[in-house]
Amino acid sequence: MRLDVLAIAAHPDDVELTCGGTLLKMARMGYKTGILDLTAGEMGTRGTPEIRAREAAKAAKFLRVAWRGTLGVPDSDVQATRAHKMRLAQVIREARPKTVILPYWEARHPDHYHASELGYEGCFLAGLKQLPLEGEPHRPHKILYCTSFEGMPPTFIVDITREYETRRKAILAYGSQFRRSCRRSRCRWRTWWSCR
Ligand SMILES: [Zn+2]
Repeated sequence: MRLDVLAIAAHPDDVELTCGGTLLKMARMGYKTGILDLTAGEMGTRGTPEIRAREAAKAAKFLRVAWRGTLGVPDSDVQATRAHKMRLAQVIREARPKTVILPYWEARHPDHYHASELGYEGCFLAGLKQLPLEGEPHRPHKILYCTSFEGMPPTFIVDITREYETRRKAILAYGSQFRRSCRRSRCRWRTWWSCR
């Protein structure tokens, strides 16, 4: 498994929301893409890990990723611990991505900003020769950050006009998580996605 691009995020559906269109665009251009979900999303208000795994597999087909895996970090407890970093570094050595896409380091959900830190440090460790890991050392050539929130001025954006509709289908594959709009009258996240 040698990936050109690997997107890493805390929960199944995070990648679809932040850089799903970019992954699809890259796949259409012939690049080999992958997704690593750090957790199985077992702490989500809705859905079970089994349901979410089926939804994630369906979404992965829409995004045409070559590989999708789960690291097995406990949901709601994503931390850059030594054990988690080592497991992530092992995946990086196996997938050997040239580019890694991580969540931006400022976020509302603690798992998201911790995923950013864990992702960065895991990629760094993967390149250390002396670590007791299997495989050849590998460090991604480039790390990019993505976000679904406004307020962080981007250094670049990717035009996903052509990918928009399919990326939307990938998001809606998570039937347990998303509704057309939040019906809570005082919900400040009154948009077409769920407020969780
Ligand atoms: Zn999330």
